[in-house]
Amino acid sequence: MKKLICLFIAMMMIFASTALAEQPAQDLFVPGTYTAEEQGIFVPVKVQVTVSANRILAVRVYAKGETEELGGKAADQLAKDILLAQTPNVDALSGATVTSNAIIKAATKALEAAGADISVLDANRKDTGNDGPKAEKTVDTEVVVIGAGGAGMTAAIMLHQAGKNFVLLEKMPYAGGNTTKATGGMNAAETHYQKEQGIEDSKALFAADTMKGGHALNDPELVAMMANESANAIDWLDTIDAALPKISYSGGASVNRIHAPEDGSGVGGYLVERFSSKLNELGVEPLYDTAATELLTDAEGKICGVKAEGKDTLYTFNCKAVILASGGFGANEDMYTQYRPDLKGTVTTNAPGATGDGIVMAQKLGAALVDIEQIQLHPTVEQTTSILITESVRGDGAILVNQSGVRFTNELLTRDAVSAAELEQEGQYAWIIFDQNLRDHLKATEKYVKSGITVQADTIEGLAEILKIDPATLAKTLNDWNGYVKDQRDPDFGRTTGMDADLTTPPYYAIKIAPGIHHTMGGVKINTAAQVINTEGKVIPGLFAAGEVTGGVHGGNRLGGNAVADIVIFGRIAAESAIEYIK
Ligand code: ADP
Repeated sequence: MKKLICLFIAMMMIFASTALAEQPAQDLFVPGTYTAEEQGIFVPVKVQVTVSANRILAVRVYAKGETEELGGKAADQLAKDILLAQTPNVDALSGATVTSNAIIKAATKALEAAGADISVLDANRKDTGNDGPKAEKTVDTEVVVIGAGGAGMTAAIMLHQAGKNFVLLEKMPYAGGNTTKATGGMNAAETHYQKEQGIEDSKALFAADTMKGGHALNDPELVAMMANESANAIDWLDTIDAALPKISYSGGASVNRIHAPEDGSGVGGYLVERFSSKLNELGVEPLYDTAATELLTDAEGKICGVKAEGKDTLYTFNCKAVILASGGFGANEDMYTQYRPDLKGTVTTNAPGATGDGIVMAQKLGAALVDIEQIQLHPTVEQTTSILITESVRGDGAILVNQSGVRFTNELLTRDAVSAAELEQEGQYAWIIFDQNLRDHLKATEKYVKSGITVQADTIEGLAEILKIDPATLAKTLNDWNGYVKDQRDPDFGRTTGMDADLTTPPYYAIKIAPGIHHTMGGVKINTAAQVINTEGKVIPGLFAAGEVTGGVHGGNRLGGNAVADIVIFGRIAAESAIEYIK
């Protein structure tokens, strides 16, 4: 009997194991095409997946309207990665985390609708090709430009126009850097546009305004060079189809001097788009996802190369000159707290590539730094998204109130002063308040509303309740303010600008804001030929720098319109000097 039971059990086991062996691999999906949506920063991101029983066959991501170039890059990269990895759980694209996460969530939902168990997909994850040993490659060239922001792209166009051989390195998967974020325009004096529009200005006045704005900490020679070359730079922009004809007033200028695109679009996005299409037309493709890691010098201390790391390649570029155009360090908390411990924990408005690599690499060659602790805060930054609420919102009439519902400053003082006033309020934040009339007149506000960072109500009291502010206090603040606008006099804080329209048109809007790191004004020391200077006051042969990586142009406070002037003017000068040097 015992034997029979053993035989029976043995037969059962054979059947069971045969059944297991013969059962086809479990289907992962119900074949078909599935779509799902998730909210990105500005728009819902749609992901469509097509699956067979056992494979993800295609991934399509629709993110049009999402953060301009970044959203597009995230869409392309993540669609590729999900397909390769065969799971939605892939790495977010740095700098586009919100969009990436929306894509990953939507892809997860779509695959779950297809019957997938995501943990099984994760367990079977395929190699995306982003790991593993990297190939080594040596490339000979004349010049290496590090960074494809405004300064680097300007230099690259100039080098191409002079027929030089060069490589343009960009560590992010896209061009633009902090330049993309510039909203105002470019300061320039004695331009043909000013003359045509009857604006009297002078290079000397531009230089004087810049020195005054920078609390005279600026390098006067660099400032004079910027002012003297500004009209030429505007002419050059005309020739590469990047004209800035619209002139208006910007804080700290004695006359209308800030030059902007005709169509009212933000200057940074416009220039990055124009520069990119020019480079494209010239056949110059930046080497994306490739970070310069070290500057190489020969026995005499002259620049002779650059080491760089790409996704799957370690490069050594042999070259005669390097143009550092790698931007500032406002996205590197370790670095800015090293120079400014008081800024620990402050959010940043900066592009993720603003990590100060160029400064650190140049320092290793003995480069001197100037004004490195001079960091500009922007007073109106939404803290959970780092979205910068443009100055125009206050310029067009918005006010700031604290959690007690009262104003605490002239909202249009310099950025540093308004930031300091906010930091004195309880909780170190404030609410920026505007109305429907302002929204109707200022395109930028649409993005804030769409991204979900605004709260709104049909009455001031209703808004106060949402903000947990005493309704009667907020109503009185608004009522008083509207009276000041009518009288064109602010007895509380002496505000004189941004008082053209009152705040009386419902609905009313509020955004919670606090200061954010905006611009690192210090950096490597350069002379007027954009040559990098070492701590002994000598030129480092073959090393040139332009833009936010340098210090000295802005001193202790950068005027609006001078960042773009800096990158175009010194980007041009750095290229001219490098061309002369390698002759
Ligand atoms: P600027 O206004 O001076 O042109 P941006 O911030 O606009 O400065 O551009 C600097 C660019 O340099 C950014 O696109 C950034 O990603 C890139 N960058 C920073 N560090 C490196 C690096 N080590 N290698 C290559 N590119 C870099």
